[in-house]
Amino acid sequence: MSTVAALVTPSAGAAFERSTIERRDVGEHDVLIDIAFAGICHSDIHQAREEWGTAIFPMVPGHEIAGIVAEVGPGVTRYRVGDRVGIGCFVDSCRECENCLAGEEQFCLKGNVATYNGRQYSGEETYGGYSKQIVADENYVLGIPEGISLDVAAPLLCAGITTYSPLKHWGAGPGKKVAIVGMGGLGHMGVKIAHALGAEVTVLSQTLSKHDDGLRLGADDYFATSDPQTFKTNRKRFDLIINTVSADLDLDRYLSMLTLNGSMVFVGLPENAQTFRVFSLIAGRRSLAGSNIGGIRETQEMLDFCAEHGLGSEIEVISADQVGEAYDRVVKSDVRYRFVIDTSTI
Ligand code: NAP
Ligand code: ZN
Ligand code: ZN
Repeated sequence: MSTVAALVTPSAGAAFERSTIERRDVGEHDVLIDIAFAGICHSDIHQAREEWGTAIFPMVPGHEIAGIVAEVGPGVTRYRVGDRVGIGCFVDSCRECENCLAGEEQFCLKGNVATYNGRQYSGEETYGGYSKQIVADENYVLGIPEGISLDVAAPLLCAGITTYSPLKHWGAGPGKKVAIVGMGGLGHMGVKIAHALGAEVTVLSQTLSKHDDGLRLGADDYFATSDPQTFKTNRKRFDLIINTVSADLDLDRYLSMLTLNGSMVFVGLPENAQTFRVFSLIAGRRSLAGSNIGGIRETQEMLDFCAEHGLGSEIEVISADQVGEAYDRVVKSDVRYRFVIDTSTI
């Protein structure tokens, strides 16, 4: 075991403290990563504040991790010391179930091992990226291509893959009209990726305050959902709506903007149950669906795609002292568009 500096929250909603955690020794197939940057995902806030049910404390959040390989186990073949790498939302899975074998480890039937607020199959708690080092099996480590710097790459490990995966699955590309609901961490990556895939992209944000950024990032159109006219103007327009919002929405109004056979996909995770009228679906053979991050193979594909298209996250780099304030700003939708912790400040 080795002792590693980390930002720890001792109980639900408590402030972060500089402290230490124990990381396991580097095993046969493990890599030790010197973490350089860790993104702040809204899911970190949901879990650190225990908004999704009982969580494990003390907690070290962070599943948007970018850094450099510092050591490798004797059986490691994919990475060498000095490689630029990342870790996303899980660090292990059963590797045997049909979903793992299909490269969809996010849907592992045994349940994958979350990067933090989870337990290894051996029972030890997991701790995430708000720390200086992490040890993980090489099969759950991603390569960050040259051409994306580590700070703007970190958010791709969750916000990037969470939007890339449904955009690919539901066929976003030339000739398709895609709407992204919410211009936050996930939403702004959804705009960039959907645009790079060749789709026509519309942002549906609460207000027009980020309109210019939306167009700069690749949106063709931008509407405020606070304006009822938005739902009339865009009636039956979109093939795909990706909803990144975790607040309750009037789903019938959103479904009315789907074209024939259109799909509305949830990636945002509201605390409350959501309701809609079945009429809103049958009126256009529409689907309401959900999507959860992405598998390891697809995450690597996404990173390579982002490098090829020059895409990274729009970030504000912060120090360890600013994490509490950053959480409050994310909750107030005051984020442009991802906070990233410089872990050298921990
Ligand atoms: P975020 O940066 O806070 O972005 C969410 C956006 O939602 C905000 O920027 C805001 O955009 C909009 N919004 C906030 N409050 C709203 C309200 N009351 N009504 C309407 N819109 C509102 O969060 P994020 O990190 O992108 O995460 C978004 C959600 O996805 C979270 O619930 C997170 O847990 C979840 N998530 C899911 C997955 C998955 O695999 N499915 C992965 C990662 C995260 P505007 O100001 O533009 O309206
Ligand atoms: Zn996340
Ligand atoms: Zn599995």
